[in-house]
Amino acid sequence: MDYLTLKRTLDAKGVKLIAVSKTQPPQRILNLYEQGQRAFGENRVQEMVPKYEVLPKDIEWHLIGHLQTNKVKYVAPFVHLIHSVDRFKLLREIDKQAQKVQRVVDCLLQFHIAQEETKFGFHEAEAIAMLESEEFRALQHVRICGVMGMATFTDDHQQIRREFRTLRQIFERLKAQYFAHVPHFKEISMGMSGDWEIAVEEGSTMVRIGSLLFGPRST
Ligand SMILES: *Cc1c(COP(=O)(O)O)cnc(C)c1O
Repeated sequence: MDYLTLKRTLDAKGVKLIAVSKTQPPQRILNLYEQGQRAFGENRVQEMVPKYEVLPKDIEWHLIGHLQTNKVKYVAPFVHLIHSVDRFKLLREIDKQAQKVQRVVDCLLQFHIAQEETKFGFHEAEAIAMLESEEFRALQHVRICGVMGMATFTDDHQQIRREFRTLRQIFERLKAQYFAHVPHFKEISMGMSGDWEIAVEEGSTMVRIGSLLFGPRST
């Protein structure tokens, strides 16, 4: 799909576009940058860091893939938003590394909404246990800005819709219970190339789109 058409469609709905540039060389990122895109998503630290180093410094780098605790230190100095916080241990490490570089790192809590076992994420009860802990409340270098989830990879649109709706409901419950007076808790990151329209209908505020913009990935 043409970048500007997609961008205009999403802008009209107040939905932010994260261009997922994993496996794409820097030149292809620059092509979109020159058309005005600033938010790019990567799923691997080893790929994001070298791209950050060579590309313009006003790019917002979004980490969207499973993150190992030993890699947090490499992204803490510059990452814009970590979408894939899926365990308390990881959040503690982000807090620790952010403190070292005197930053507050914005994060989303990733929830497991798909049927596939392979996908990562909190279950709601686990996230609640974390949010209620003293240890969580003591963290000063992370800011929870909302939730993220991936639907099952399927042609069944009803199932995808149900899963996105589940994520939206989790967001609403957490907002009411733990973030009622926290204006930055407002993001629902859901929707990819194959399901972004359903995600937007179900209340997405950020879509993460790769192949629809860049064409199919070879790897
Ligand atoms: C690769 C990836 C995307 C984008 O996938 P497309 O189908 O190419 O749009 C979105 N979110 C995550 C977490 C990904 O790993």
